[in-house]
Amino acid sequence: MKTSNNFPNKFGGNGFKPERIKIDAKCPVCGSMYDFGHLEVLQEEEGATLMFIKCTVCQSAAMSLIAFGTFGLKVASAVTDLEQDEVLMFQEYKPINSEEVLSLHEDLESTDNFLKEII
Ligand SMILES: [Zn+2]
Repeated sequence: MKTSNNFPNKFGGNGFKPERIKIDAKCPVCGSMYDFGHLEVLQEEEGATLMFIKCTVCQSAAMSLIAFGTFGLKVASAVTDLEQDEVLMFQEYKPINSEEVLSLHEDLESTDNFLKEII
């Protein structure tokens, strides 16, 4: 059986999965090549991997989500000012809904010292 760099069966290949994928990536802030020795895998589940890397030159951080799906490999990346533990912490938070925004707006209007009261 020929084993070349084909994608897994569901993508039309012969099922061979490469042990390594070589990626060269640059920091979006300063343009330096990333040192993947500093790459951290924060979470892996159901074919999706959340990774975090800090540029060794400018210390900017980026997180990437890589996922295999029906349409192939998808990669989404974003520069962040969060640290690794904060990425995981905020991931557990639910998004703010419109009712919470309206409630905050009403509280701000009805209370003179709203900020002092919540601190
Ligand atoms: Zn950089």
